[in-house]
Amino acid sequence: MPEGDGFLIIFQVFSFPGFVNRFIMHEIRIAEDLSAIVLQAARKENLIRVTKVNISFGQLVQIVPDIFEFAFREIVRDTIACKAVVVIEIVPVKMECNSCGSDFNLTENYFACNVCGSTDLNIIHGKELFIKSIEGE
Ligand SMILES: [Zn+2]
Repeated sequence: MPEGDGFLIIFQVFSFPGFVNRFIMHEIRIAEDLSAIVLQAARKENLIRVTKVNISFGQLVQIVPDIFEFAFREIVRDTIACKAVVVIEIVPVKMECNSCGSDFNLTENYFACNVCGSTDLNIIHGKELFIKSIEGE
């Protein structure tokens, strides 16, 4: 939580549909999208500076946190978010088996149920790509 007269904006949780394909400059593209969301939310709340940005990435988004943070910092360099602390949480992949109903965390790149071996699986977590909250004043 922010201290003093700080401000906290909580975002609705949403996932991007389907898999996010990996392209060259994947992190930059995502950093551009997320920084635009941060700045828009900060403007809407009349913040004078953004102090912290909490971001969740599913493991399947295959973000490299250091590259993302570098890209984000470059993009927000001349904005009110230039000194914001960026906190990145990686959400592990969780699968649910459509055959036997068990759910399990994916520990390796082997897309089969670890109880019955079925490959008829749903992804429950791991595709997330969102800003959890931003803090500012
Ligand atoms: Zn199963």
